[in-house]
Amino acid sequence: MKQGNYISPIFKLSLRDADSVPRKISYSQWATYEQCPRKWKLNYIDKLDSYTDSIETTFGTAFHETLQHYLTIMYTDSVKRADSLDLRAILTQKLRMEYSRCLETNGGIHYSNAIQMAEYLEDGSAILDWFTKRRKQYFSTKDWELIGIELELCTPASKSNPSVYWYGFIDVVLRHVPTNTIHILDIKTSRMGWNQHQKADPIKTAQLIAYKNYFSEQFGIPKDNITVEFFIVKRKIVEESMFPQKRIQQFKPAAGSVTQKKVQRQVDAFVEACFDTEGNKNETRTYLAVSGKGDKHCKYCPFKTDYANCPKADRIRN
Ligand code: SF4
Repeated sequence: MKQGNYISPIFKLSLRDADSVPRKISYSQWATYEQCPRKWKLNYIDKLDSYTDSIETTFGTAFHETLQHYLTIMYTDSVKRADSLDLRAILTQKLRMEYSRCLETNGGIHYSNAIQMAEYLEDGSAILDWFTKRRKQYFSTKDWELIGIELELCTPASKSNPSVYWYGFIDVVLRHVPTNTIHILDIKTSRMGWNQHQKADPIKTAQLIAYKNYFSEQFGIPKDNITVEFFIVKRKIVEESMFPQKRIQQFKPAAGSVTQKKVQRQVDAFVEACFDTEGNKNETRTYLAVSGKGDKHCKYCPFKTDYANCPKADRIRN
């Protein structure tokens, strides 16, 4: 469990010691493979990952923690106390702390500056201000209880392999007490929200379908009693719009049994192709380089110009 996060005592009983499992895979690992198997191999087998910190990831972490802190106080203490929090000050402190943490791990290489940080702070404060004024539209303590914040999932990823575990943290889990329904939320920080293309992206939406499947497995809650939602916050809104602009976009992807089975089949295929029954990675098979239509997968890929590891001639555009 991540330090400082919350989990309801009864759900704690079903947590697993993640250090004791042979192999863990995450949503981002699986999504990388789904998009381009070569990219997965270069990242996770050859360890050529060139992850770099950015203001977006720093802001994302700081904003998540600020909103999660508000919700924890709201559900475990009182709405009044949550509303009395100085969220701007908390966000400022978390931005500073996260930026310092990244500098410590990257050898002190600056990737932002005071002007940019100030802009993100203003954006985050505007979202929090908008949210607290309309909090009742999104979260209520009447009939709802908090199950977890950054709730750790660690459960077998595929029935065909006992060594590979799905591992991840769910941003917010609530329970609607009268119906005993679990509501899983994933918070996304975004510039202007998700467009139709992003909402229709099956790899993006699969994150919550997978969380639903694995939450059900680990905590013994029927899938029919679990709902999922992306809680997307927008840093920017269209200022001259004729219509009132919302800072928060709620998106509930299709998560019925057909979609659940489809996602599980894809994870099964990934586990079977890439791991042996002891959880070792398959280093000998061929991992196709799938660049996608118009090379869209390569656009932000760190191996885009690494022609030694991903020759142009290998790239498949379908
Ligand atoms: S550059 Fe394109 S084809 Fe090569 S690994 Fe990256 S996404 Fe795959």
